[in-house]
Amino acid sequence: MQKLALIGLGASGLFALKELAGANVEVEVFDVGPQYDKRYACPIDQGKLEVCPPKACSYCAPGQSAGSWNDFKVILSASPVIGGRLYDLIGESELQRNLDIVRKTILEHSPVEIPVVKPDQEDLDWIRQRATLAGMTYHFQELLHCGSDNAPAINTSILNEITDKGPNIKFHWNSKVLKLDRQGDKFRVLHDHYRKPGNEQSDIFDYCIVSVGRGGAHWLTQQEFYKSLDTNPGQVDIGIRVETSKYFTQEVDKRFYEPKLYYVSKHTNDVVRNFCSNPGGYVTPENHREYVLVNGHSKMFEKSENNNFAVLVSKTFTRPFKDPQMYSQTIAKVVNMLAGGGPLVQKLGDLRAGRRTKSLTNNLIKPTLEAECGDIGLAYPHRILASIIEYLDALDKICPGVAGDSTLLFAPECKSYPDSITVSKTMETNIENLYIIGDSSSWTRGVGQATTSGLLAGAGVKKKVASIPAPQVVPITKPLTKVTNNSPKSG
Ligand SMILES: Cc1cc2nc3c(=O)[nH]c(=O)nc-3n(C[C@H](O)[C@H](O)[C@H](O)COP(=O)(O)OP(=O)(O)OC[C@H]3O[C@@H](n4cnc5c(N)ncnc54)[C@H](O)[C@@H]3O)c2cc1C
Repeated sequence: MQKLALIGLGASGLFALKELAGANVEVEVFDVGPQYDKRYACPIDQGKLEVCPPKACSYCAPGQSAGSWNDFKVILSASPVIGGRLYDLIGESELQRNLDIVRKTILEHSPVEIPVVKPDQEDLDWIRQRATLAGMTYHFQELLHCGSDNAPAINTSILNEITDKGPNIKFHWNSKVLKLDRQGDKFRVLHDHYRKPGNEQSDIFDYCIVSVGRGGAHWLTQQEFYKSLDTNPGQVDIGIRVETSKYFTQEVDKRFYEPKLYYVSKHTNDVVRNFCSNPGGYVTPENHREYVLVNGHSKMFEKSENNNFAVLVSKTFTRPFKDPQMYSQTIAKVVNMLAGGGPLVQKLGDLRAGRRTKSLTNNLIKPTLEAECGDIGLAYPHRILASIIEYLDALDKICPGVAGDSTLLFAPECKSYPDSITVSKTMETNIENLYIIGDSSSWTRGVGQATTSGLLAGAGVKKKVASIPAPQVVPITKPLTKVTNNSPKSG
């Protein structure tokens, strides 16, 4: 049987594996994290902490606890602008067909009923009128919000079903792939134990699916074969995590959970958008070891008084600059430097007035993350902040109160996307039998499309292995040795 290495078992890897369970190929899965049912819970859920420690915790770092474990909001609509670019790769109907499989799978495996958020005609008329008057463009989406509290059960149940159907699958948990290189037309995977290194091993595979997410994107660029891939520079989103009262946004939250509203800045012409709304949610640190970003999540049952969401400005660069990731990481590091190692928080009123925030005592909005008060204006480019303020002023026309002085702004909320890798409709790269899926391919930006890319690659490999003719049985010409009563017995 031919062999396949699946590197990374996050959102995209899990759905690739779903397709490959029981297929005519031996699959070996490598993930730095522990088995799904042994993954540790957030220290707040364990009752060890009340709020996130801004600097130390790595629970919400990309990797073990990315979006299919944390918040777990899934965009279910095939949109040309939301959640990734698979619409351009495979078209609307194929994207929607796969997103429907993702929806069905998640709902089947959820321990509780999760409502699908689907705006009706009255909601659409309501938002389109208000968005137009505010100078914003609304993009339709249906979504599921599973919640951080349901995520472990859903992922574990999906994986258990895969394991039951897949005697062809072998897992290497707690295993970091150190190196992936080509050996002729095959792939060599060098791996070691993640936490207790010192036992490096290597294996050869016929196929490889790389699904290392944004957290593994830098590792990918360091592999020898990377320069043979056909790539285009990725984009970055520089933004702010806004935390405000959930009462300011409750009308849109009730109708849409998260309305996708895009805005073009009058001053800079930059496109500004909202992302990852968490009504009743919590702001969290996202620890990348060398720098700490902010993110947000919410649970299905336990709710805060606040709503948090990101406002992001997308930037792409042209020659001679080639390292947008470095640009966004540098901004993040300057913010961390000013904050003594973690995120900064500033009141919107103080940012407008050009002064640092010194204290949040008596502020209308109580933060759900303890961050250092300061001046984001000292770290962020002016054009980014000007565009974000313009966006909030426009949003205030739909959600009155959002752009008030006491609204909190957390930084850095930077998202850097890897280079966009040219792939076929099954996510196969220009290197034959090498598939790159999910956020590490840069075709996806969220759980919905990441899982879809996994389904595409899994189906692609399955089709290839099914088309390989079965090995011919060579007739034995040598006469068989006659077994006599004197033959030695085993045992
Ligand atoms: C805190 C947080 C919250 C988010 N919330 C949402 C949300 O609610 N909704 C949404 O749509 N998106 C959300 N996102 C984005 C979402 O997580 C990603 O778009 C999605 O997970 C991408 O899937 P992926 O499979 O490409 O990568 P991931 O899900 O990140 O999986 C990558 C996997 O690869 C493994 N890995 C990496 N490198 C190696 C290596 N060298 N060897 C072995 N294994 C390796 C990691 O352990 C990980 O399991 C969130 C992201 C973060 C960080």
